[in-house]
Amino acid sequence: MGRVELTAAELPRYTDVVVVGAGLVGLASAFFAAEAGLGRVVVLERRDALAGLTSAHSAEGFRLEWDAPENVAMVRESIDIFAHFAEVVRLPGFDVGLRQQGYLFLASPTPGATRPARLRERVAWWRQHGLEDVEYLDAAEARRRFPFVRPEVEEAHFRAGDGFLAARAVARGFALGGRFDTFLDVEVVAIETRGGRVAAVALADGRRVETAAVVVAAGPFSARIAATARARLPLELRRRHGLVVFLPPGLVDPGWPMVVDADLGLYWRPWPGGLFVGWEQALAADQTPGEPLDPAPADWRYLVRVRRHGRRLTAFWEQVPFENVLWHTGQYVAPASADGRPIIGPHPDVPGLYVNTAYEGRGIMASPGGARLLVDLIQHPRAPETNPFRVFSVARPNAPDRMVL
Ligand SMILES: Cc1cc2nc3c(=O)[nH]c(=O)nc-3n(C[C@H](O)[C@H](O)[C@H](O)COP(=O)(O)OP(=O)(O)OC[C@H]3O[C@@H](n4cnc5c(N)ncnc54)[C@H](O)[C@@H]3O)c2cc1C
Repeated sequence: MGRVELTAAELPRYTDVVVVGAGLVGLASAFFAAEAGLGRVVVLERRDALAGLTSAHSAEGFRLEWDAPENVAMVRESIDIFAHFAEVVRLPGFDVGLRQQGYLFLASPTPGATRPARLRERVAWWRQHGLEDVEYLDAAEARRRFPFVRPEVEEAHFRAGDGFLAARAVARGFALGGRFDTFLDVEVVAIETRGGRVAAVALADGRRVETAAVVVAAGPFSARIAATARARLPLELRRRHGLVVFLPPGLVDPGWPMVVDADLGLYWRPWPGGLFVGWEQALAADQTPGEPLDPAPADWRYLVRVRRHGRRLTAFWEQVPFENVLWHTGQYVAPASADGRPIIGPHPDVPGLYVNTAYEGRGIMASPGGARLLVDLIQHPRAPETNPFRVFSVARPNAPDRMVL
């Protein structure tokens, strides 16, 4: 069983694999690395809790509706792992709160629409590419099934198998069931190399841990930590807000799906005590790449925009009391090639350095599949061109995944 240590007293001086960062991506990487027998695996986390940075602020949704087939496959594999999570982590009865309540995308060409959603074409495209259970709904059918849908909605699509899961529970499960140790309150300040290869990590308290392999899974800080080994990671960071709005009982059915205004990208879902609301395009300032932040400060203009524009397609919006909210602000890590795929694999310039990051809005739902791929790439090195998620210096020739939400 894995240990989670609040003190670095027992930190080893040598280990086989160091994972930097105990977000979901780092914990999943450590779990599958240890399962694969890569030796002693240790996770080092600067904060005093598991999954406390970006992973604490997500909407905790999962869905298969992506453009890129390899993104669909990675989330599909991950959902299968979440569905059998207690067995995977060997913790009988362990519950990650998996609930398949669906994702509903709504579209209307009424004022405010910023991009044509083309839902019918999307559903047809997915059918051709093996994703056959996304239902196309005309306006009448959407309103019949979902009473909150406003008359302005013209079309919708729905996939019942999508849903929600509890990110913190997943983190706890990986850490407790895994054959690796996690040390909290331990900051890695540098990755040291010897003869061009990874040799050790240096810690903020002056200590070192020698190792031949480092996995950089430091979320928004990944490029900064990789740079200490003179390894460039072409990443961009964008601030992303979420809000939990606390509601009077009865306004929202907790069994409703994730609901997305497909023209705007604004979304909401039932959340314990109310709603989780997100909208990536809300603020122009948030579209500009920024420096890594911990914590990421919230911007009240976001709340004003969400309050105004959320009413476009959702009938009960006027009754939502935006006075009582909890901010969830974090940073998306995006690959600078803007192809909508995470960056997973060995770094081509520094032997022993591995990268698992840049999941944008997919890092909870895709973390097990991405971690399994990373471990496979460590165990079975292969030509970089065969890996669409590879670490790159100029660009990857992937078609963009436009389902950026
Ligand atoms: C508003 C919002 C909504 C979202 N909704 C969803 C959703 O519905 N579904 C979904 O799948 N994803 C969603 N996401 C995206 C998801 O949260 C991220 O993709 C995911 O959390 C990334 O996990 P991570 O482990 O890569 O990064 P993080 O969770 O940021 O973990 C990185 C860790 O590394 C640690 N660290 C950094 N530097 C160091 C260092 N030098 N030494 C030691 N430790 C270090 C940090 O403290 C942190 O704990 C959402 C994100 C936001 C902001």
